Amino acid sequence: MEKHRVMILGTGPAGLTAAIYAARANLDPVVVEGNEPGGQLTLTTEVENFPGFPDGIMGPELMDNMRKQAEKFGAKFVAGWVTSVDLSQRPFKVTVDDTKQFEAESLIISTGASAKMLGIPGESEMIGRGVSTCATCDGFFFRNKKIIVVGGGDSAMEEATFLTKFASEVTIVHRRNELRASKVMQQRARNNPKIKWVMNVTPVSVKSDGNKVSGLEVKDNATGETRVLETEGIFIAIGHSPNTKFLAGQIDLDDVGYIKTDGVSTATSVEGVFACGDVMDPHYRQAITAAGSGCKAAMDVERFLEGSSSHDWSVSATANQ
Ligand code: NAP
Repeated sequence: MEKHRVMILGTGPAGLTAAIYAARANLDPVVVEGNEPGGQLTLTTEVENFPGFPDGIMGPELMDNMRKQAEKFGAKFVAGWVTSVDLSQRPFKVTVDDTKQFEAESLIISTGASAKMLGIPGESEMIGRGVSTCATCDGFFFRNKKIIVVGGGDSAMEEATFLTKFASEVTIVHRRNELRASKVMQQRARNNPKIKWVMNVTPVSVKSDGNKVSGLEVKDNATGETRVLETEGIFIAIGHSPNTKFLAGQIDLDDVGYIKTDGVSTATSVEGVFACGDVMDPHYRQAITAAGSGCKAAMDVERFLEGSSSHDWSVSATANQ
């Protein structure tokens, strides 16, 4: 069985930044790509808010560059998805695609979170061409356009409010008459004159000409009638799922499934296992914050392996709940 000093699970901005730092620290990291190599940024088009790229950069290109940078310093990549881990003792055991087995003295978990999707016809085909899951990433492209935000939680309120900076009109489309969002977030959205509401409807399909979104078909839950709401942009804000199912019962997770870290470092409840990026961060969820936490995780691992830190790595993780 292959044994490594550090394995990094996931290749979004957090995992790849951790790989760059760990490789430059001569830790010979091995990175498991995951089933969406490059992470969520590979689903976006232009990234305009990652520092260092004044003219913007395409999401897939940014991730490709990060990977090349990690490879340049010696990081090795394994294709596949981590199907199980055994964190009960060190070295930890990592199984990829149910078949490939590895041992690792330390682990960095950066498996990210996946935006929940509606699962309706036209939705996945139009991602990056009018359908988005990230207002901060893509809102700018909808200047003076009509936008729909789907969802009734805090994310939907926040994204809709943010999008009014760009859009001519934002319509919140929600499946019930009551919102799930906190009162303060609801009120902020309700007070915004650019925000309209279409409640108690179920999204049925995304309308487009194949290149550009033209509408969202919805079914009225009271009458059963369907109609098309005209729009050029549909932001899906119905929550995220952290990719932590393979960790169940082995590491402290919060109620939703995000990995708990101690708040100061990237240490988890298991000594030698560190977490960074969206898998432990339900709040910021930006490429740059994920990259920053990936850097922290690599530095934490380096200190852990050196055994030279005064940090209590077995700290009970509570601060990022
Ligand atoms: P959430 O609270 O789970 O809300 C998801 C919303 O999407 C709900 O209104 C839900 O409808 C709707 N939804 C779920 N699946 C759907 C489907 N298949 N079709 C149509 N609608 C669907 O998720 P969130 O808004 O992302 O928030 C997650 C957590 O982050 C929350 O704890 C939230 O408070 C927090 N957060 C806080 C802030 C802030 O304070 N600034 C900002 C964002 C998020 P139902 O209501 O009918 O279930």
